[in-house]
Amino acid sequence: KPVVLGPTEHKIDPKLVSSNAIRVTQSLQQAGFKAFLVGGAVRDLLLGIKPKDFDIATNATPEQVKKLFRRAFIIGRRFQIVHVMFGQDLLEVTTFRGASMEEAPKDEHGRVLRDNTFGEQHEDAVRRDFTINAMYYDPETQTVLDYHGGMADIRNKTLRIIGVPEARFREDPVRLLRVVRFAAKLGFTIDPATSAPMKIMAPLINNVPAARVFDEMLKLLMSGQALACLQRLRKEGLHHGLLPLLDVVMEQPLGEKFVRLALASTDARIQQGKPVSPGFLFASLLWHQVLEKWAAYQAAGEASIPALHLAADDVLDSQIEKLALQRKIASDMRDIWAMQPRFERRTGKGPYKLLENLRLRAGYDFMLLRCASGEIDTELGEWWTAFMEGDGPEREVLLTQKP
Ligand code: ATP
Ligand code: MG
Repeated sequence: KPVVLGPTEHKIDPKLVSSNAIRVTQSLQQAGFKAFLVGGAVRDLLLGIKPKDFDIATNATPEQVKKLFRRAFIIGRRFQIVHVMFGQDLLEVTTFRGASMEEAPKDEHGRVLRDNTFGEQHEDAVRRDFTINAMYYDPETQTVLDYHGGMADIRNKTLRIIGVPEARFREDPVRLLRVVRFAAKLGFTIDPATSAPMKIMAPLINNVPAARVFDEMLKLLMSGQALACLQRLRKEGLHHGLLPLLDVVMEQPLGEKFVRLALASTDARIQQGKPVSPGFLFASLLWHQVLEKWAAYQAAGEASIPALHLAADDVLDSQIEKLALQRKIASDMRDIWAMQPRFERRTGKGPYKLLENLRLRAGYDFMLLRCASGEIDTELGEWWTAFMEGDGPEREVLLTQKP
């Protein structure tokens, strides 16, 4: 019963499909299984965008998939998938899921805990989140199978959840974040029936394991449209309670300006294909909380530098658990924050020492954001730019300048 679309209707450019994705679908098909590209990759292909990764759906079980490839690993608990590796390239292969959620184990709020019951392709389609994410593409025959009117929603730029919105959000509240991310990233309108229950459902996100929320939140922040995402969250009345930490951030006027600038620069970097470090991103999001506590410790009699370290500890301790911040990210954040007072010292050996710091670039970019947001004098940023770009004699001159 899916609508079958040929090349003249879907107009997918086969050159945008990765050769490794084709290798996987071909191997599966040659072994007698069904295999399709699915989800975000098909959506992006239909929009004429080169997909950044390819998900593959099949009726082969994870064990059967694993046997067909030299480097394949079954991963996940809640939702088992197979990672197939070719060199650096990673493809995710999922087995069609069954439609019935009735028997699936759930928590007391109705959230599905495990989902490894296999089923037919049409059942798999019902289980996906949005109509535009529930289309299957066979690179061999170049046909698209559209089960839920996804093609029409691509054309009229609508994000529509499959099934009864409230039930689907309850099953998996992370979908609330996904709505916002896709709407902002693709510039789509959220179908009114989909958005209607979102505000009431928002608190359900608190019952989702922090690590999953963190993954989805990182995707949102690294989507290249983070600022637009946050504006959407506000518009939907979701900025309270949906993203842990946004509550803190958005309530401080200075903090908000700083965060807005940080996200705008992150978005610009991502759109230019430049790398972005999660540590920098989270250091920015939480900086004004650090500033507040830093001032409080100083008011209580601590010296400036120890006060900053205490403030950083407090903020990290309180967020590590809520956010499931990985250690590496937390240590990057601490480094960026701890470097900030060192930019204030503009005489002697201090500035030369700072030049040798491996994290200088991140700390410096962070300091420039502080200048741009009006927190500190832009003159400091200009001095450091000149110092970093200057040659030996120019640096000596800068070091003797009176700030
Ligand atoms: P992206 O461009 O961010 O990778 P995507 O749509 O590929 O977007 P993934 O998280 O990679 O997103 O998921 C792949 C597919 O799996 C989705 O397109 C959707 O069909 C399905 N899916 C993912 N998460 C969920 C979910 N929480 N509920 C239902 N289906 C989901
Ligand atoms: Mg994907």
